[in-house]
Amino acid sequence: MKVIDILKQNDITISFEVFPPKKQEGMEGVLEAAGAIAALKPAFMSVTYGAGGSTSRLTTEVAASLYEKNRVTVLPHLTCVGETRATIHEHLEELRASGLDNVMALRGDLPKDGRQNKDYEHAVDLIRDIRSYDKEICIGAACYPEGHVESASRSEDLKYLKEKVDAGVDFLTTQMFFDNDLFYRFLWQIREIGITVPVLPGIMPITNARQLGRSVELSGTHVPERFLAIVDRFGGNPDAMKQAGIVYAAAQIIDLIANDVRHIHVYSMNKPEVAAGILANLSELLK
Ligand SMILES: Cc1cc2nc3c(=O)[nH]c(=O)nc-3n(C[C@H](O)[C@H](O)[C@H](O)COP(=O)(O)OP(=O)(O)OC[C@H]3O[C@@H](n4cnc5c(N)ncnc54)[C@H](O)[C@@H]3O)c2cc1C
Repeated sequence: MKVIDILKQNDITISFEVFPPKKQEGMEGVLEAAGAIAALKPAFMSVTYGAGGSTSRLTTEVAASLYEKNRVTVLPHLTCVGETRATIHEHLEELRASGLDNVMALRGDLPKDGRQNKDYEHAVDLIRDIRSYDKEICIGAACYPEGHVESASRSEDLKYLKEKVDAGVDFLTTQMFFDNDLFYRFLWQIREIGITVPVLPGIMPITNARQLGRSVELSGTHVPERFLAIVDRFGGNPDAMKQAGIVYAAAQIIDLIANDVRHIHVYSMNKPEVAAGILANLSELLK
């Protein structure tokens, strides 16, 4: 099923993300974790992609297995950094052959040496190509409530986001954020410039202090004082930090739902117990 149809047909949806193993040897463990997350009956599951094609085959394998064995709608990611038109088309054919109707179209992070294949420079080029190659596939794309780290200004980032959506995007998912007010302001700004597609906030439950450092370094996301205090106080106690991280993410989701944001994506990172913990905190809200 297409993600956009799920969003249209349901009042509130919670979806989860998993990532493929780095090597084939890790596949069994990933499929077990992903299967346990699928058993929680999310609206759909996304599967990330290693930019540069390092895990592309493994992304398709996880996505196809989730679809076949767990009967869950799957959103495989696809990045165009380092890919050619031919490899992207091949990949789209593989997704379709596995019965998948969705793709998350991304540029991917630039390689450290700055070398990039010339077939696609930005995600918008990939989206235009996917849309002309496959008119029916449901396309998701990324957006950044606090601006993308490479952008010279927020307004420039918004201009390119509008271009990307106009190229054929059905829905957007945001980068993680820890302060919902930043998301509300972003929503207001994009509606003002005529972006009308659904926007799924991406919520990252932080379950250990190291994960916070890595995530913030990559994304430049603002960490509010109230969350820093939690990490300061509980960062040295893994069980306490995990519980606090789950509750903080659940509280973000409760606030989003209270403010009429109906579709939420959770970066569950192959951790079924974290996904289950989030849902346990929302059980009455989702009835
Ligand atoms: C929801 C989500 C899922 C993700 N999943 C993955 C994943 O599975 N694998 C992975 O490797 N990475 C993933 N990423 C990270 C993503 O690949 C990086 O953030 C990457 O740096 C940008 O990708 P993009 O698709 O947003 O790129 P783009 O939309 O191309 O934007 C990248 C930068 O270029 C600018 N830009 C865009 N269009 C133009 C233009 N026409 N001219 C000039 N500048 C332009 C933008 O303002 C921005 O600064 C994900 C990110 C998000 C938010």
